[in-house]
Amino acid sequence: MHLKIPRLYDSHTHFLATGEFATGLMLFDLPSAEAIRYVSLQGKTAFRGGWLVGFGWDENKWADKKLPTKQQLDDIFPNYPVYLARADGHTAWVNSQALKALGLQSESGLLSEKDHLQSFDKIPPYEKAQQRLQILAACKMFNRAGFTHIRDMSCTDSLWNLLVEMENAGELTLAIEENYTIHELNQLDRAIASILVARQQPTRLLRAKGIKFFYDGSLGSETALLSRPYNGEGNNFGKTLWSLEDAEEVLKLTWAAGLEVSVHTIGDEAAHQIVKLARKVSAQGFVGRLNLEHAQVLRSETIQMMKPLHVRCHMQPCHWLSDRKWLQQKLRGLYSYAFPWEALKNAQIPISFGCDSPIEPTSFFANKQALEESPKERIKRFTGDLSVYHAHPDATWTDSWTVIEDDRIQEVVFDGKALDLT
Ligand SMILES: [Zn+2]
Repeated sequence: MHLKIPRLYDSHTHFLATGEFATGLMLFDLPSAEAIRYVSLQGKTAFRGGWLVGFGWDENKWADKKLPTKQQLDDIFPNYPVYLARADGHTAWVNSQALKALGLQSESGLLSEKDHLQSFDKIPPYEKAQQRLQILAACKMFNRAGFTHIRDMSCTDSLWNLLVEMENAGELTLAIEENYTIHELNQLDRAIASILVARQQPTRLLRAKGIKFFYDGSLGSETALLSRPYNGEGNNFGKTLWSLEDAEEVLKLTWAAGLEVSVHTIGDEAAHQIVKLARKVSAQGFVGRLNLEHAQVLRSETIQMMKPLHVRCHMQPCHWLSDRKWLQQKLRGLYSYAFPWEALKNAQIPISFGCDSPIEPTSFFANKQALEESPKERIKRFTGDLSVYHAHPDATWTDSWTVIEDDRIQEVVFDGKALDLT
């Protein structure tokens, strides 16, 4: 196979988190709780303002399968706070210094769910020099995977400013679209103001696009909003994280500011409600771009309703590889609507493919594999040209291409220059 793809594009990423994972303390291979004593911190950005931060341990991989304890960390790290998140992201293993700094009591040294998430936000941020290293590492990771263009869903003011600095210094090897994520309506004004300021700056490799919010959850945790109950029985249909009234405000105000709205919608009912809402808001004279993130389950009527809107669906076939083992069981009667890339293509709704890094590794080949294997499990075969659907649609945005030979990235040219991929 020989492919030359222009502007190879990963259309849904969490850019800085990808860099944090690439340079941070990763504990996926930790063989026991005690082995934390021997992990190397060299060359890592493991410290955040004096806190040792790590991610990825899982006691199920340890011989004793026992949860770790605060005492184990206190023996090894008595002098500074230590905060180690479990692989599932729902629990943290911390020492006494961390508990003291957080103002929390815990006999076990394990913080879960809300305690964990709120505590994690209180850890001091990375220093600018560390963020620079993370950005460089993330650029390298995307470039090695062949990508020259990405769309980031997790921008902040500090990330934007740093990216502008790095572009001016000639250090960026990616063209990046940026979106700000909000979790509540009261964050909207500030986020819109940030993007409008970002748009004033003359950048060539950076484009500030708009606002993102999560309308529902995920299929794996059975929180994505479906029109039928999970597993074909009971009364769990998933849930929404926003009221439709608040979502309506986001659409109106963001579009009125001339920016794009991106909505995380995984379940068919979540996507249907957002598309219906976009139609209502458009009928009132507000017009703008709507991006549906993931769009893993879409009913035919929803796809038809997208036609008069300016919609693009951002899909990650690689998620199918991870979900395939339980997908039919969870969706039952809705399975025929799952991963509807072919139905969208036939309805001429624009689609872009991506990988959702660092949730999944950034990989053109994983998406290609998913598109090849999924028809064996009753997902309609995608008949589009992957080189087109994985390319950034703006042909004027840098002179960039990627050469793929026998399932290997052979050459990446970004902005007219061949990149060193070693
Ligand atoms: Zn994502």
